[in-house]
Amino acid sequence: MRLNSNGVGAFVSIVRGCNNMCSFCVVPFTRGRERSRDAESILRECRDLFENGYREVTLLGQNVDSYHYTPQNGKETDTVSFANLLELVAQISPDLRVRFSTSHPKDITDDVLHTMAAYENICKCIHLPVQSGSTRILQLMNRTYTREWYLAKVDRIREIMPDCSITSDIIAGFCTETEEDHLDTLSVMDYSRYDMSYMFFYSERPGTLAQRRYEDDVPLDTKKRRLQEIIEKQNSLSLESYKKDVGNTYKVLIDGDSKRSENDWVGRNSQNKVVIFPKQNHAYEKGDYVNVKINDCTQATLFGEIV
Ligand code: SF4
Repeated sequence: MRLNSNGVGAFVSIVRGCNNMCSFCVVPFTRGRERSRDAESILRECRDLFENGYREVTLLGQNVDSYHYTPQNGKETDTVSFANLLELVAQISPDLRVRFSTSHPKDITDDVLHTMAAYENICKCIHLPVQSGSTRILQLMNRTYTREWYLAKVDRIREIMPDCSITSDIIAGFCTETEEDHLDTLSVMDYSRYDMSYMFFYSERPGTLAQRRYEDDVPLDTKKRRLQEIIEKQNSLSLESYKKDVGNTYKVLIDGDSKRSENDWVGRNSQNKVVIFPKQNHAYEKGDYVNVKINDCTQATLFGEIV
């Protein structure tokens, strides 16, 4: 377990290792095969955290959707899937928020999406790393999905949870990436309307499949220019997304004092967007939920007031 220093949120590991073999990644070599943790021990840990005042748990794994636990001597029907686990954690208390990360696009199921939709306290936010928008590059990356498969997954999320935020990881300039492949990445971003992304240019990691199989042949200045275009695209998508929230009211979990002023609280809504608002002489404390009406924004922060 890892605790946030604010005493409100904690990270709970549920799967260690990874069975995927993304060609750019060292995890399969450094952390070994996937092992799902005993569901009972996860639930015990989450209950303890709640009883000790924590109000948010983030279930962690390289690929949480492949969580799969069968108790010793248990039957196949006793197996706990990730959707089952999410539900069990959500049932601990409606005042305990549940998040999870990371989802591999090939593994997130309708069961998980329906479970998220059914529980208000399961946060409406999915980190769904695309890495590239080009099917050819995705194959070289060994991501095991195509551009079309990914976009269909985005459609499915929006169909089941129209208010769900989607975030991503994107790599610019993977081996052999052409200008056309790069444009495919930009168009996937437009289609998916990411609220936020972690963006990098490709740099070879020793021991990975990509290092052994492919030449790192995209010039550094091209990688940097493509990354800059991706960042600019993300900045404008984020601003668009945050602007849409102005005028809405959100249930916000208070994380603590805002860094800028001790007269303001900072917290996050279900979509994991940061919200800053004046304390206004209300007797709230960190770890409380409060309804905040949004009246302004930047591309990374919402501003509002308690209603
Ligand atoms: S990128 Fe993620 S899913 Fe792919 S091998 Fe690495 S840890 Fe596993």
